[in-house]
Amino acid sequence: MGALNGSKILIGREDGGSRLQIAVYKQGKRIYVNVPTMTPVANCVSRLNLNNHIGHCEIIVDPAGQMYIRNLKPQNVTFVDGMCIAEKQIFPYSNVCLGEYQYPLDLNSVLTQAEMLAAKIDRQIASQGGGMNPGGMNNGKAGNGGQSAKETVDIRHLEQMYQYYEDEKAAIMKKKKNLTLVASITPIFTIGGSVLAIGAEKFGIQGDAKSITIVFMGLAIVVMLISFWLRFTDKSDQQLKELTETFQHNYNCPKCGRFLGMQPYFLVKQMKKCPGCGREFRG
Ligand SMILES: [Zn+2]
Repeated sequence: MGALNGSKILIGREDGGSRLQIAVYKQGKRIYVNVPTMTPVANCVSRLNLNNHIGHCEIIVDPAGQMYIRNLKPQNVTFVDGMCIAEKQIFPYSNVCLGEYQYPLDLNSVLTQAEMLAAKIDRQIASQGGGMNPGGMNNGKAGNGGQSAKETVDIRHLEQMYQYYEDEKAAIMKKKKNLTLVASITPIFTIGGSVLAIGAEKFGIQGDAKSITIVFMGLAIVVMLISFWLRFTDKSDQQLKELTETFQHNYNCPKCGRFLGMQPYFLVKQMKKCPGCGREFRG
């Protein structure tokens, strides 16, 4: 657990979505990520607001590696081993639930992800050579030319990150496709109604033709309204945008922070070295 020592993990539900989000704070730096979960995070889990440092709870890891969980809002509840707590020491095997409906937190996967982020912060600090360089992004370019190129950089964690991005993207696209499907039902009712009405008239069925048309038109309007409402309240464009941003924020060279492109892990591996800092990839 080394990398997490002396850090803080803020935990909550992502803004505008229902995934679990964590932010790791260490030595004045912050990285956040969405943690893959089996089910959407329940509404009783408070949202994470990165700018205002608000979340459901936080885990504090002291320099010796002891972990404490703290409930962050009086309106929240956080449970440890079935007990409602304000602050309590926890262990990797502790049973943590969030909110009044006791959403079970996958502590193991939270700690695994958080440790990866903490290690990334460590690498960022190390590559900045003591952190005295202002402006962050492009340093490491000057000064450590030839010899650092021999250093390799471990990119194995990017494989899982890319997979997660692909899975989430597929889920959002599927939702969008279903919305289009609902919208495409409307003309079936409208046309179907007209065809039946014309048919009824042709075969001399009196009176009913009009009522059939009206029923079908009515159905068409109902479906249209439902589909309009679904599209109106649909957040998938926003979710896709956020997903992509988070991905671009995290899918980068652990050494120099250069974004490695919207390409699968195996293609990144084929690049053999980082186009930014020239370090060889180990994956
Ligand atoms: Zn690099």
